[in-house]
Amino acid sequence: MAFCVHCGQMQGDGIRFCRFCGGQQPGDQLIARLRIEAEAVRYQVQQMQAQQIQYQQQQQQQQQQRGW
Ligand SMILES: [Zn+2]
Repeated sequence: MAFCVHCGQMQGDGIRFCRFCGGQQPGDQLIARLRIEAEAVRYQVQQMQAQQIQYQQQQQQQQQQRGW
């Protein structure tokens, strides 16, 4: 199931033009590319979160060492 990128109406799979607004839909290649980009972004976010957790843990360790 897919949704029109222009008007958001529900569309059948594999259609090229929206039957509601006539807007052209992204092709399979574009969708595949967007999916890869989304994966890359998700990976970056995970890396950032991991770094943030690491940083927080380091801060906590430093505070413990100072006797807080
Ligand atoms: Zn549409």
